[in-house]
Amino acid sequence: MKRFIALVDCNNFYVSCERLFSPSYIDKPVVVLSNNDGCVISRSNEAKLLGIPMGAPYFKFEALCKRHKIIIHSSNFELYGDISRRVMATLETFVPNIEIYSIDEAFIDLTGIVDPLAFCVMLREKVMLWTGIPVSIGLSYTKTLAKAAGEVAKKSKSGVCGLLGEEEINLTLQSLGINNVWGIGKKWGMKLELKFGIRTAYDLKQASATFIRKHFSVVIERIIYELNGLSCLELEEIESKKSISSTRTFGRSVSEISELREAIASYTANAARKLRRQNSKAYGIYIYIRTNRFRDIKQYNRSKLIELTYPTSDTGALISAAIRGLELIYIPGIQFKKAGVVLLDIEKENCLQHDITEEYDLEKEIKSVVLMKAVDELNKKFGKRLIQHAAEGIKKEWKVKADLLSPRYTTRWDELINVY
Ligand SMILES: [Mg+2]
Repeated sequence: MKRFIALVDCNNFYVSCERLFSPSYIDKPVVVLSNNDGCVISRSNEAKLLGIPMGAPYFKFEALCKRHKIIIHSSNFELYGDISRRVMATLETFVPNIEIYSIDEAFIDLTGIVDPLAFCVMLREKVMLWTGIPVSIGLSYTKTLAKAAGEVAKKSKSGVCGLLGEEEINLTLQSLGINNVWGIGKKWGMKLELKFGIRTAYDLKQASATFIRKHFSVVIERIIYELNGLSCLELEEIESKKSISSTRTFGRSVSEISELREAIASYTANAARKLRRQNSKAYGIYIYIRTNRFRDIKQYNRSKLIELTYPTSDTGALISAAIRGLELIYIPGIQFKKAGVVLLDIEKENCLQHDITEEYDLEKEIKSVVLMKAVDELNKKFGKRLIQHAAEGIKKEWKVKADLLSPRYTTRWDELINVY
């Protein structure tokens, strides 16, 4: 049976989330900024037309924004995460087989549906009706082709594009640059173009798969099959990660070890939560601290890897290892701008090998697992930070700048929207 795969992509997602709760933003230029209000990471179509580029540093466009009365927001990831969950839940109601690809994108398998194009039109309306988020949907036979269809859908009025006939597939692929083919990227794109004159997705589709495998890799060979309508990339469930990192730039320079300890503890807790969510444990933790390399100050960049005696996902154990690492690399009198934590050597809980020659405290281990489970469940139910380790600090004054933050309408009782 022929497979049908679609890509659902939320339009200008962060801006769309902001608009949900501020209807006056509709038809106005709106922009959302990254951490520390640094760069533009989402733009409404009106802001795109005014010439605000994606990824632009805000300070360079501040004057232009003021002149055109562009509405600016700090990123409110708590809100966006919650809205994303609602969009994905809506998709899951209609489609059993879904791969959440990013915060605002999902692949869905529509194989077996009689009229998949009509289904996509219906799905788009349902998502709009139930969540208020506009999406575009690209439909075709493989993930790679669905991605290409998604690009067309994004620019179309209907928001839905089916690439189902040979001719329309070829026409679309001819207008898709090689760098923009899903999975190719700049480096390979350049090599393909310079070495073999492959400039568009269509050129790649026509290339010999065996030849490409010899000169590049099996990954690009698969992309060729996919462009030819032969599905070889399955929908993947959320893949377990081999390393988990949590890192941030501070809102201001930090030099006190007490504040660094809080930040490192807080990042570690964050990473540990992700680790438990994928039922894994880590054998090592890597900590780093950094000064601002763009400023003319004394530079100091250090990192430390701490290997753990036993693999763990216990927040407390990971925090104390992380702080031990921090204390080994910290020196006073330095203005730090960034810190990070990476959990390494991660294994699934059921694949772990315990060292039987050393004394292993099973009872302690079980207690930790039960405690962490309770903490995660309480936090899930009552809000992210209801229970936390004291080491993470309460005020978190080192936290990122977010001066233009919108309320977290859907996840905080005290920030609910008022309707008069
Ligand atoms: Mg998007």
